[in-house]
Amino acid sequence: MSDISIQNVLAQSQASAAEFVAFRRDIHQHPELGFQEHRTSERVAEHLQSYGYSVERGMGGTGVVAQLRRGTGPRRLGLRADMDALPIVEATGVPHASQHHGVMHACGHDGHTAMLLAAARQLAEQGEFDGTLNLIFQPAEEGLGGALKMMEDGLFDRYPCDAIFAMHNMPGYPQGHLALREGAAMASSDQVVITVRGVGGHGAMPHKAADPVVAASSLVMALQTVVSRNVDPLAMAVVTVGAFHAGEANNVIPDCATLKLSVRALDRGVRQLLRERITDLAQAQARSFGCEATVDYKAGYAVLVNTPAETALAREVALALNGPDRVTLQAPALPGSEDFAFMLEKVPGSYLLIGNGDGQDDSPFAGHSACMVHNPNYDFHDSNVARGAAYWVLLTQHFLRSI
Ligand SMILES: [Zn+2]
Ligand SMILES: [Zn+2]
Repeated sequence: MSDISIQNVLAQSQASAAEFVAFRRDIHQHPELGFQEHRTSERVAEHLQSYGYSVERGMGGTGVVAQLRRGTGPRRLGLRADMDALPIVEATGVPHASQHHGVMHACGHDGHTAMLLAAARQLAEQGEFDGTLNLIFQPAEEGLGGALKMMEDGLFDRYPCDAIFAMHNMPGYPQGHLALREGAAMASSDQVVITVRGVGGHGAMPHKAADPVVAASSLVMALQTVVSRNVDPLAMAVVTVGAFHAGEANNVIPDCATLKLSVRALDRGVRQLLRERITDLAQAQARSFGCEATVDYKAGYAVLVNTPAETALAREVALALNGPDRVTLQAPALPGSEDFAFMLEKVPGSYLLIGNGDGQDDSPFAGHSACMVHNPNYDFHDSNVARGAAYWVLLTQHFLRSI
């Protein structure tokens, strides 16, 4: 990558940015929830077809995959954007605010879609690469696992990739700043329901009952020891009991108590340890009070792990585009979760962040772009459409360079 070619790519991205900023604002005005992205995915597919990609619609419900082959190179690259919005009432008051009350692009997936679409056209028209480019526009990232649905539909069987990459905006970093991380970058997120069954009875005669309230209360306290006594002090883990339901009346011992937990980890081994300890503790604690526990353990998103070689390549491209002052090479991990983690379990790759603004730039919407995602005042920073697109073009040309 020469300095001149990098500046050319960025200049081209900037020259066509207005059209894709308008596209971003259009889908911001027409946000769609997970697996309902019919209008968005149709517009994306139409654009990709007009650029000359072979396009498959309806993968994983409302997902779109577009492929462009050039030359004879054997390498295959996957780039992924997410398209879904959130059930939030928008409060930004911007001219392009959501026209659908209660649905909002509050995580910037409108921007991710626009960035990748802008790169798609630039690569089709001017991109110099040798190999196969697969663009993955996925539905339902927000909790519904659209990535997994696309994989169940044969995403990587029909569109094999040697490496995959995805980019998410992040308020708090200056606009356009790029932040990378090798290794575990985002947490797994599991939901657990523990039901403790005992024997109900009269509140005046506890000796004739097996009280699940006492057993479950003891269990809440015992669960606090999993992180403090079982997990390596240098590892990250969260066990939160967010709900405890039991009983109705002051003088009745109920026959059942229910706990609901959120369980997170940044390491696959720690995640498995949490599962084993929580299950054992629940069953043993309940038994010690003459009760029985059943544990319904729902595995949510996996730990997101960025592989070393692909992260090194992503860093190289980030440094080439932004220079060292606007790149964080090893950013802190985040306790949130992301379903790109499932794709990274199958294919090596890296997930990076692009700064959405820290409120210090002179954009008219700077306050909104510095506001955290999932907040009704948040908005994607339009200047990232060009920079994000330039990043994807450079990454593609670098990964699929002729050897
Ligand atoms: Zn989100
Ligand atoms: Zn998001």
